[in-house]
Amino acid sequence: MKAAIVQGVGRLLAIETIVDPRPKADQVILQVARAGICGSDLHVTEHGFVPVGTILGHEFAGTILEIGDDVRGHWKIGDRVTALPVLPCSNCDYCDEGLHALCETNRFLGIADVPGAYAEYVAVRGGMLQRLPSGVSFETGAMVEPLAVSYHAVERGNLKRGTKVLVVGAGPIGLAVALFARLKGLKTLVVSETSPERRRRALELGATHVIDPKMENLAERFTQIAGGPPDVVFECVGVPGLLQQAMDVVRKRGRVVVAGVCFEPDTLSPVTGIMKEIDIGFSMCYTPGDFEAVIDAIATGRADPQPMLSEIIGFADLPERFEALRTPSTQCKILIDPAMT
Ligand SMILES: [Zn+2]
Ligand SMILES: [Zn+2]
Repeated sequence: MKAAIVQGVGRLLAIETIVDPRPKADQVILQVARAGICGSDLHVTEHGFVPVGTILGHEFAGTILEIGDDVRGHWKIGDRVTALPVLPCSNCDYCDEGLHALCETNRFLGIADVPGAYAEYVAVRGGMLQRLPSGVSFETGAMVEPLAVSYHAVERGNLKRGTKVLVVGAGPIGLAVALFARLKGLKTLVVSETSPERRRRALELGATHVIDPKMENLAERFTQIAGGPPDVVFECVGVPGLLQQAMDVVRKRGRVVVAGVCFEPDTLSPVTGIMKEIDIGFSMCYTPGDFEAVIDAIATGRADPQPMLSEIIGFADLPERFEALRTPSTQCKILIDPAMT
């Protein structure tokens, strides 16, 4: 099969022909229809967190091509699916709760020695598959994984009707937080974002208002819009300083949900949190239930993530486009179609 292979820091991905994967007893082989490029793929390759030879790709949808002995009966060849890109132990307390991403021995597809979906075929754990109803396209199917990250974060926010919400950052995660938060029946859902293109997408996806934090004072403008400070702030950027900013803006006894992945050390003032009795909740990945909820929301038309999709590319364009994404652009979600020449 054809696959995109990591060549090391500062080097382009190489499109190579390698041996097709074979299913282990608990696995199926998917023919990849679409695979998403994620910010974390850029991050791990930039910092050399994955070795040369890695096949990236943890966001994907496709059809079942081969089925391992232990999962026969549950699935048939040709089924359209996506999957949680995890290989957990499946019998610890976290796995019991569906929190596979927190399992001590979990390994993610597309990281290190577990091949991901920047390829024609990918091996997936049968127990992690999620069926795509006929109304859910491979495009949106491949976006279920990043959407489920945001869905999980929204659940961590304990939102109720009338909760005043601020989302900081309108990259794919922040946009999808807006999409699912809006389904909670909110009247005020404000997205703060410096890029005009991304602010436009945020309004399309469910934000009631947008703020450009470079041009306006975030706290003042939010209060002007909502008649008071936010009850819940979702931090969806992940750069130092923004957690403190979220704590400064949120109301007393409010909640901050951290969904932006900041790899660097950050500084914050605990006294801000104490004086306001703030709750801070960090959000990591998703459960199978989150995947099901996202697929259901798309299938029933309650959520339409289509505005997040900016482009579909083939392997020929992938190496150059992947590198180009390292510099800020107006792109949102780019999908790979392995069949495209
Ligand atoms: Zn991702
Ligand atoms: Zn486990």
